[in-house]
Amino acid sequence: MSNVRTRIAPSPTGDPHVGTAYIALFNLCFARQHGGRFVLRIEDTDQARSTAESEQAILDSLKWLGLDWDEGPDVGGDFGPYRQSERMGIYRQYAEQLVKEGHAFYCFATPAELDQMRQEQMARGETPKYDGRSLALSYDEVQRRLENMEPHVIRMKVPHQGVCEISDMLRGNIQIDWAQVDMQILLKADGMPTYHLANVVDDHLMEITHVIRGEEWINSAPKHQLLYQYFGWEMPTLCHLPLLRNPDKSKLSKRKNPTSILYYQRMGYLPEAMLNYLGRMGWSMPDEREKFSLYDMLSEFDINRVSLGGPIFDTEKLRWLNGCWIREELDADLFAQRLQNWAYNRETLMPILPHLQQRVEILSDVAPIASFLVSGMLDLSEDRFLRESKLEKSELLKLLQFALWRLEALRHWQRELIFEEIKLLATQLEVKLKDFLAPLFVAIAGTSASISVMDSMVFLGPDLSRARIRHAIEVLGGVSKKQTKKLEKDYAQLGKAAQGKDA
Ligand code: GLU
Repeated sequence: MSNVRTRIAPSPTGDPHVGTAYIALFNLCFARQHGGRFVLRIEDTDQARSTAESEQAILDSLKWLGLDWDEGPDVGGDFGPYRQSERMGIYRQYAEQLVKEGHAFYCFATPAELDQMRQEQMARGETPKYDGRSLALSYDEVQRRLENMEPHVIRMKVPHQGVCEISDMLRGNIQIDWAQVDMQILLKADGMPTYHLANVVDDHLMEITHVIRGEEWINSAPKHQLLYQYFGWEMPTLCHLPLLRNPDKSKLSKRKNPTSILYYQRMGYLPEAMLNYLGRMGWSMPDEREKFSLYDMLSEFDINRVSLGGPIFDTEKLRWLNGCWIREELDADLFAQRLQNWAYNRETLMPILPHLQQRVEILSDVAPIASFLVSGMLDLSEDRFLRESKLEKSELLKLLQFALWRLEALRHWQRELIFEEIKLLATQLEVKLKDFLAPLFVAIAGTSASISVMDSMVFLGPDLSRARIRHAIEVLGGVSKKQTKKLEKDYAQLGKAAQGKDA
């Protein structure tokens, strides 16, 4: 098999996720093992949520890890463009072809109408699902509405009954009832394709032979298989890898574990150790050894050795493995080089040095006040917060949790934007800015007597900044599920109250 082509198809809508790197690693190994090619395709059809910044971060972090692709938006290739937003002219014709052939149909239901339909279904105790109402329209009626330019989408037809059988490399036959599968929208009202249409069309046009992806996509497989049948195309072989999990077995989530690759980079993990650890997620070397390089993994790779029990992404284990790499693989010279490349270099330090310069008298003052900038999690205590702030513990928790949510929603990590959000939140909570900033200072720098907390957050980057706020919340006793619900309500009210005032 030398024509093997695998791909990773991330959507650039947030931080580069460790799950993306994990899937990329297995796709790369599979392609290399068969002398095939590994493709990177950016799935940015959701233009409201996709950002160029996030795409860049994904490319940078995969490169940092040493996961090289043969074709992609940055390196080109014979099957480009490799960014779906640049392929927008391609998808409509495929959706219309399916309509013409009777496999898809125009749907004119308005969002309000669909909402009501779902409410009624739920009131009857049914799972909400599109009920096929536009299928009843006559050909003439459809033409009339199209001519009137009535807003519409294109949906695929799906069998009402029976069982769909999906064949998966690791899982064998998977059976899913057609009754559970919705008449998926293929082309949205704004003319954009959905993930399902664009993904299938591109995998076909890019001649992908093996779709190796996370198990969260299994439920999409019936729709995809049906689309391949409708088009009369050969379907790639499917392989759904097990989801990464938190140590408590729940799905890996940033609430419990940092999930952004940039966080691990910032914390000073070595890319080799990260890859090594990701390689151990559901997979092992034939001799079961824990420490191995990408090269070792490539030479021993066999996808059938993937075990389906949910692999646990445990940062303690990763930390231990990283220590092995540092001690066993680096001599003093290389160690010095790594430190330098990581943070102890002019380029990294330059943006923050002027701020430090203002606060020192002798050079040896620098390291103590700058140490929080090159540290991981800080050694905080509840006492410290209470000493440095006038607010009570429950107030502090609320404030930090709200700040965290605001900063998690921030799409561009820039000083002015961060400051605006914090100021707005302080106004909405009717807390003086100074009082709002004090606990934030402690969370980020360990003390409020430090350089500007905004500059510090910009320097630390979004991932480590958010992780420190999360850590501060834990130090203050954490927020239970019940409390989170209550806070979520208050938080939603905030936005509304502010809108009310503006109006
Ligand atoms: N764009 C999807 C994602 O964000 C791709 C899923 C797939 O591999 O089919 O993961």
